[in-house]
Amino acid sequence: MTDTSLDADIIIAGAGPSGLMVGCETALGGARTIILEKRAEPWLTRAGTLAPRVLEIFASRGMIDSFMERAFELHTDPRSPDGIWAGLPGIDYRAVASDYPYVVMFPQIETERLLAEHFVSRGGEIRRNSEVVGVDQDEDSVTVRYRTEAGEERSLKARYLVGCDGGRSAVRNAVGIEFRGRPAGRLAMNVDAFVDNPYSRNVTVSNSENGWAMTYPLRDGLTRFAMIDAATCHDVSANAPELEEAKAMLRRVHGSDFGIEKVHSINTFHDALFLAAQLRKGRVFLVGESVRIHYPASGVGMQFCLQDAFNLGWKLAYAARGDGPDWLLDSFVSERQPEIDRLLDNVRTQCAIQFNFDDEHVALKRRLENDFLTIPEVSRRIAEDLGGLAARYPSEGDTHDIVGRRISNLALNPQGHGSDTVFTLLRKQKFVLLDLTAQSALPDLRDDLPIVAASLASPATGELQDVASALLRPDGHVAWVGERPLQQHLPKDQLLKWLPGVNL
Ligand SMILES: Cc1cc2nc3c(=O)[nH]c(=O)nc-3n(C[C@H](O)[C@H](O)[C@H](O)COP(=O)(O)OP(=O)(O)OC[C@H]3O[C@@H](n4cnc5c(N)ncnc54)[C@H](O)[C@@H]3O)c2cc1C
Repeated sequence: MTDTSLDADIIIAGAGPSGLMVGCETALGGARTIILEKRAEPWLTRAGTLAPRVLEIFASRGMIDSFMERAFELHTDPRSPDGIWAGLPGIDYRAVASDYPYVVMFPQIETERLLAEHFVSRGGEIRRNSEVVGVDQDEDSVTVRYRTEAGEERSLKARYLVGCDGGRSAVRNAVGIEFRGRPAGRLAMNVDAFVDNPYSRNVTVSNSENGWAMTYPLRDGLTRFAMIDAATCHDVSANAPELEEAKAMLRRVHGSDFGIEKVHSINTFHDALFLAAQLRKGRVFLVGESVRIHYPASGVGMQFCLQDAFNLGWKLAYAARGDGPDWLLDSFVSERQPEIDRLLDNVRTQCAIQFNFDDEHVALKRRLENDFLTIPEVSRRIAEDLGGLAARYPSEGDTHDIVGRRISNLALNPQGHGSDTVFTLLRKQKFVLLDLTAQSALPDLRDDLPIVAASLASPATGELQDVASALLRPDGHVAWVGERPLQQHLPKDQLLKWLPGVNL
């Protein structure tokens, strides 16, 4: 369905993690995609980790090896099972049911670099030094105006525009979506210093009347000292301090300045919390920090941005090809808005605990850390939430508990399609008709269809043992489950619902 009056199917504003992830998905699905990025180069490292669901997403698109190889170049062992919640240690990712029961220490700038490589290798185009300055849309298309480095104004026309241009989003402003919230009231700080991690653990945390301190390695020889200084955190107008002042804060909060002589950067960040009133207006979508900004509690902001981007990306690819139903793009809003709302509530709860240092709050933190987060079920549920594994997308009627949730990386019988696990099979961004009995005959589906059939290597167990067949979406979330094997019952209504344009 190539429309030659258009410059692209999809235009994305912003080559941060969100824009690149949307682009990886749309380009994989064959949509002509251009990313407009105002900067010449990726900038400053903010996020320092990759969480379990994001690692699963990378695995289900064949990108995980490139990330893990680079992570092992940067650290002796980048995998950390230890997480924090509300600035408190004790979250144990080992308890989550995933191939990736840990976070990977990985600087955001490297995530952006690798995602950009994957995007370009799939045929996508990045135009750097290109700042989006205006948007016009009608029923059929959207026109994006942008300014080049030389100050010239140009325009591009596409089917859809995705605003992934961060907290000050020009796209959001241009289409008139309100950004509601409350300004910063408290500051935290990162000192990224050229010293080895002084501790034996990957993540070391402490809380006291003087503030909150956390240490973790960004890579061998470069360590991040994060802190909230109780004495100064309410002065939100303060600029990032010079080295000597930062060292005095480190001594106050961390108990030592670790003999730091050279820093990579000193940055402050704050607790402002804003949310866009809409995720979609006509042909324009917002993804990532253009939708919300919040305190980076537990360091999961980017993980949720990437999950939003993944959710929208494959749907845009299907819409651009004409394969998806009319409601598919709206489901981005109905599926991700509740997750964003839950995330922001989680952040508010964490800030209420983390940013207070009177003796009552210090006692509360001690009690939470020693008596509550040590309960395995509590730690597991928090790890699932932070790891992005708890999302359950809405489904119609009274369905099985697995419907709407992501499936883990089950082993497959490779006959017919050659993939030995679910994540490998998902790499082509197709729907999957899955036989969970490991015995049913599979329907014969042509290779050119956006759906493939597969059988588990052995009958399903655990929460799936009462299910005989399933329909998986291209993002690995379960769309439907049946009690009868596929050979007795093919869910034609479900196939028509999800793939109305496809002649099976
Ligand atoms: C101190 C700190 C620590 C953090 N730590 C973590 C962590 O450990 N883990 C985690 O998951 N998250 C963390 N985060 C959050 C994470 O950094 C963000 O969630 C993430 O950067 C959001 O990605 P994005 O692509 O939506 O936006 P951005 O990263 O802001 O990218 C937006 C892009 O759009 C470009 N742009 C802006 N305007 C225009 C325009 N008009 N035209 C074209 N391009 C434009 C920008 O140049 C930029 O490249 C942290 C954040 C902070 C501040």
